[in-house]
Amino acid sequence: TGHAGRAGDAGHASDDLFDRARRVIPGGVNSPVRAFRSVGGTPRFLVSARGPYVTDADGVEYVDLVASWGPAILGHAHPQVVQAVQDAAARGLSFGASTPAETELAELVTARVTAGGRSPVERLRLVSTGTEATMTAIRLARGATGRELIVKFAGHYHGHSDGLLAEAGSGLATLAMPASSGVTVATAAQTLVLPYNDLDAVRAAFAEHGGNIAAVIAEAAAANMGVLAPLPGFNAELARIAHEHGALLILDEVLTGFRVGPAGWWGLEASDPAPDLFTFGKVIGGGMPVAAIGGRAAIMDLLAPLGPVYQAGTLSGNPVAVAAGLATLRTADAAVYARLDQAAETVSAAVSDALDAEGVAHRVQRAGSLFSFVFGQDAAATAPLDYAEVQRQEAYRYPPFFHAMLDAGVSLPPSVFEAWFVTAAHDDAAIGRIVEAAPAAARAAAS
Ligand code: PLP
Repeated sequence: TGHAGRAGDAGHASDDLFDRARRVIPGGVNSPVRAFRSVGGTPRFLVSARGPYVTDADGVEYVDLVASWGPAILGHAHPQVVQAVQDAAARGLSFGASTPAETELAELVTARVTAGGRSPVERLRLVSTGTEATMTAIRLARGATGRELIVKFAGHYHGHSDGLLAEAGSGLATLAMPASSGVTVATAAQTLVLPYNDLDAVRAAFAEHGGNIAAVIAEAAAANMGVLAPLPGFNAELARIAHEHGALLILDEVLTGFRVGPAGWWGLEASDPAPDLFTFGKVIGGGMPVAAIGGRAAIMDLLAPLGPVYQAGTLSGNPVAVAAGLATLRTADAAVYARLDQAAETVSAAVSDALDAEGVAHRVQRAGSLFSFVFGQDAAATAPLDYAEVQRQEAYRYPPFFHAMLDAGVSLPPSVFEAWFVTAAHDDAAIGRIVEAAPAAARAAAS
């Protein structure tokens, strides 16, 4: 292995693999942002990953700041996680019946998401993807309240279920799509989209539609329009307003959960009143397909078989996937979170310094160990608070920056509207390579 050195072009292997993929897979990818549409060039086809590094089909190694879009907090192929997966696989891949490990994972999550001796997560139902988790949380909120409307925030991504795709950030922001074709008008009409961090807009929506709003859903800290933390007290006030009108708050911690801290973003804020429902994903599966809905027993027990709200899954609570999640959470101790915070601080500061040195106006956006950059004088002068403000940035500076980093052997998220993800395996050597690559990338962003 060695450094990438092909000036923006993938090696032959990735070019050939992408051509071949495009003949059988739409766009050559199984998730849109992977296609490099907003940064240009050929996506690297990866063949292995270890610690803070990924290796492409040409044998080129990159320091990875994607971390599988969040799950890999311990670094790739962590020995304890791999061992747990191998042991579980040897006992059988899937039973379609209950296993002891599912209860252990639910107990662990309940114990972690606790403040003042009480957990707002009294029950947990495992599913396979974050999309399923938020979709189920919404069905549950509708079932619990008998109401139809959902409030979401522009730029918040909650997966790709029909009702949650309006102004949804992430891949839609990357591809400049306001919403998805194929969603019925009737479904779209049941989602009210509001500007983030705007409690007046929330109060106005409840004043007008309060009697028919089932739930507000919000990312615990937004990280799918780049990183954008909530204003202090925002999540607590959301819960207060929702409760005042008999609605629920669903806090989406699919991305933040067990990444920004041992109890997720809610653990950092301990906002009170607590959210009614939580969604988790990514880290909870340690790189395997596990996600979850959690919350108060009175609401969660409305799920089948106890209650009238249906939800199910052939592979829900899959034993191999649960083993990966359990091993990841058990290994993610205070030292791991300290390491993530420190790596985020070092990398974001070094890149920010490099941009300053080249006179590239920008702001570092942080939410715990999650971070990203917004470009331009406006963003540098005033912190953006919502999707409209984030979209006004000088996004054109990111593609040349991204490719200069890639050429130097650093793999960033291929969109300015995504968070950067460090892992606890980002040691001095890996971080050193990022720091070394930053000045040339900043120069590319300046031009
Ligand atoms: N919710 C949030 C906050 C997310 O970031 C994501 C994925 O990025 C999802 C939900 C959807 O999760 P999945 O991709 O596992 O369906």
